[in-house]
Amino acid sequence: METIIKKITHTEEDKKIYEQAGKILREGGLVAFPTETVYGLGADALDEEASAKIYAAKGRPSDNPLIIHIADRKSLDEIASEVSKKAEKLMDAFWPGPMTLIFRKKENVPMSTTGGLETVAVRMPSHPVARELIRQSGVYIAAPSANTSGRPSPTKAEHVIEDLSGKIDMIIADDTVDIGVESTIIDLSEEVPAILRPGYITKEMFEEVIGRVTIDPAITDGVKAGVVPRAPGMKYKHYAPDADLKIVEGDMAKVVDYINDNTKKLINEGFKVAIMTTDETRHFYTDGIVISMGHKSDELSVARHLYAILREFDNEHVDYVFSESFETENVGRAVMNRLIKAAGHTIIHV
Ligand code: AMP
Ligand code: MG
Repeated sequence: METIIKKITHTEEDKKIYEQAGKILREGGLVAFPTETVYGLGADALDEEASAKIYAAKGRPSDNPLIIHIADRKSLDEIASEVSKKAEKLMDAFWPGPMTLIFRKKENVPMSTTGGLETVAVRMPSHPVARELIRQSGVYIAAPSANTSGRPSPTKAEHVIEDLSGKIDMIIADDTVDIGVESTIIDLSEEVPAILRPGYITKEMFEEVIGRVTIDPAITDGVKAGVVPRAPGMKYKHYAPDADLKIVEGDMAKVVDYINDNTKKLINEGFKVAIMTTDETRHFYTDGIVISMGHKSDELSVARHLYAILREFDNEHVDYVFSESFETENVGRAVMNRLIKAAGHTIIHV
């Protein structure tokens, strides 16, 4: 299949892009598009076969459900039932934006979209291209991240092209993804709402609106054997670079010594080694490929670069990566969550 690639130009020409993409979606095809979190791979959420195509293109396990993207509040009532007071409050506060809520699904939402679940995940993105695409197409768009399953989520059009060119109908390119990690998922079905995936909207931000919120233990401790995770995606290994990635944590001077010593040793053995650091600390490192993720005190700058950097390590055939650990304030918790998964939970305390 030839993939059409169109770049948003902010001129009259864009209208044609939305018309073309809308037609593809209405006819059951696949279109990748930017959102404020990462690029999404979209299909008509109410078309059983269309959303099934998403799993095939990504190589995604069929029990890992998709998030439905809508452009206005009234669309929610078409696909979800039992919308609680707390949900209303959260939608008022954080939609449009990087927050996904779980609801009971209505009959019209096919099982291929929900991965066989009776619940449905819904988000109203704030990105203007995503919003315009949903509006113009007239469909609700089921969209997971537009990457091959197991690879880092795409934050640039070139990442989508790398993974999905030839497998989907169209890519809308507009490299204005600015958060860089996926939406926060919150489940309101229990007495105390639970965060199933950390993102830009934090526990503290939720608590200001609806009171107490917990973080699902699978996020902090990993999915335990024999436990069915509340978000099916939790059990899959994600974001794993080809390189052996280790996070080094502790007193900064010790972290630097550990990383410098081990980098030297591995380079001497003939390996390619990279170091994930920050603008403030990069000058401490003497060998290897030293990559700054952003500013230590600005978690969002780190979030923005994380996935692109992990992909770059694959492209450069890096063998070993050492990463500093990052602040877990604000979106930093989401960054560390993704990084810990990428490291296969290997954290070295020095
Ligand atoms: P992605 O769009 O690739 O970020 O993946 C969507 C995520 O949403 C996956 O991790 C799913 O596990 C989660 N998800 C989608 N629908 C549901 C649902 N009904 N209940 C719980 N988690 C869900
Ligand atoms: Mg994903």
